Amino acid sequence: MMRAALVVVVLGVVGFAAAWLAEYPGIVAIDWGEWRIESSVGVAIGAVLLFAILVALLYRFWRWMRTAPRRLRAAHEAERRRQGYRALTRGMVAVAAGDAEESSRLAKRAESLLEEPPLTLLLSAQAAQLKGDDRAAEKYFRLMVANPELEFLGLRGLLTSELRQGNTVAALEHARQAYRLSPQSEWIQSTLFELQLEANQWKQAEALLHDVGRRGGAPETLRRRRAILLLEQAADVEASGDRPAAATIAEKAHTSAPEFVPAAVAAARLLTTVGKPKRAHRVLETTWRAAPHPDVAAALLAVWPEESAKQRLGRTQALAALTPGHIEGDIAIARTAIAAGDFPRARRSLEVVGGSRAQDLESRVCRLWAELEDAEHGPGLAARDWLMRASSARPDPMWVCGKCGQGTPDWRPSCPFCNAFDALEWRHILLPIADDGSAATAQMRAVALARAPVPVARIAPPAAASGPGAGAGGNGGAESPQAPPPQFLAPMPPDVPVIGPRDP
Ligand SMILES: [Zn+2]
Repeated sequence: MMRAALVVVVLGVVGFAAAWLAEYPGIVAIDWGEWRIESSVGVAIGAVLLFAILVALLYRFWRWMRTAPRRLRAAHEAERRRQGYRALTRGMVAVAAGDAEESSRLAKRAESLLEEPPLTLLLSAQAAQLKGDDRAAEKYFRLMVANPELEFLGLRGLLTSELRQGNTVAALEHARQAYRLSPQSEWIQSTLFELQLEANQWKQAEALLHDVGRRGGAPETLRRRRAILLLEQAADVEASGDRPAAATIAEKAHTSAPEFVPAAVAAARLLTTVGKPKRAHRVLETTWRAAPHPDVAAALLAVWPEESAKQRLGRTQALAALTPGHIEGDIAIARTAIAAGDFPRARRSLEVVGGSRAQDLESRVCRLWAELEDAEHGPGLAARDWLMRASSARPDPMWVCGKCGQGTPDWRPSCPFCNAFDALEWRHILLPIADDGSAATAQMRAVALARAPVPVARIAPPAAASGPGAGAGGNGGAESPQAPPPQFLAPMPPDVPVIGPRDP
């Protein structure tokens, strides 16, 4: 629309000028030596315009000719870069696909085409790693460390390379450097932490947790992890024979995370052994208020080992009264009441938890019912029925790993199956449903898993006469440590930056 209007305006002006010139005709004459050129005004104006256009075109052509070599060079370089980035991308894909030959060939091609070492170093290093040439890979990683922009990636490469070769001491040093460079990286936080744990550097690990906490980590997790580290220190100190010092450290662990059952149990046990049963009792009461747990109830009885069955029942009732209506309180009362021969009391507590018509009863409740029937009426049908029911009932809660999903009856700092630190939580194991729709097969599997050989717990379980899990099994501290190696040895770290063409 605008263009049409403009054309109309221009045509109008030209027409008007032509008409005006026709109305006032004149002559333009140029005298030059013996030459004389005469022309009408209109023709002269036309000639001048034509000359101006010709000069402008000539100037543009001259400029185009002058910049041609530079443009040709730029186009050539752009094509090289394009091919270089293509080789780089395809090389990355070859690394991801595990094609050592292809990735190495493409790394060399990208190197020759791009002439930008920072871009190709990572690919070259990974290609060398894939080929199994650790020395070459290390050379590239060291070159990356020398480049401020790639320092973290280089350290990361060196770190994984050292871990693969089992050099945890060198790996720890690289991890420390990498953490200094990029303390907010969760990967380096957890790797450094795990390496410190492996090197038994509890204090350094604790300092790391403190530092991460200052940067805004989850406070509850941090408090619990700090407690676990303190428990490890306490175990070391106890092993060296200094029980009072161990008790003090374990109490610190309990203070750090009062709701954390293993800390309270360990603190209570150590406090009892150094002659401070009242303090041990208070520790257990505090934790029970926050998290009622069978281990706490059992640990409480272990604080007062000399007491009669009746007194133990009284202690348990007082503990359960701290959290009225909680199922763990009733289960603990039923257990001690049966032992004390107070069958009506045991029956009342078990009825609260679930009687014979209740659905979805836990196995331990069925076993307690069987125990009660057996103790009250002697071996008979009722006791046998309850035992039958226990074998197919819902499995008891246990310490289940949040990483691998497997369960164990005793708590440990690291999962006995996948070695993940601080991964065990007290809950029911998730059972896959069997083909026939029942969870029975899966339950047997869970029980088998719970009894699988596991490394010795560093913190000994409470010296209670009756085990907390009441037959949860395998409490004897099995021997062979069969924990798999840590999980951070993957050759290709998950957050490798994507390298793509930059604006030239
Ligand atoms: Zn696990």
